[in-house]
Amino acid sequence: MVVVIDTEKCGNITDCPVEGLCTKICEQGALVEEDGQLVLHAEKCDDCDLCIQNCPNQAISKA
Ligand code: SF4
Ligand code: SF4
Repeated sequence: MVVVIDTEKCGNITDCPVEGLCTKICEQGALVEEDGQLVLHAEKCDDCDLCIQNCPNQAISKA
């Protein structure tokens, strides 16, 4: 399964209600901020699901 970001639900990281929490809890460094937007480096993701469980906007899911 591949983690997918819904960019509309996520919006800009500056608008994130938990201040970009997903980028901090991703131990693999697969979620990073680039130019204010959340970017996934899928090759680093180990499918731990922490980001999915902790995003208050339900902006991350698996496809
Ligand atoms: S926690 Fe959710 S809303 Fe916040 S930056 Fe991550 S994906 Fe976007
Ligand atoms: S599932 Fe885990 S490793 Fe993959 S992006 Fe989310 S927090 Fe990072």
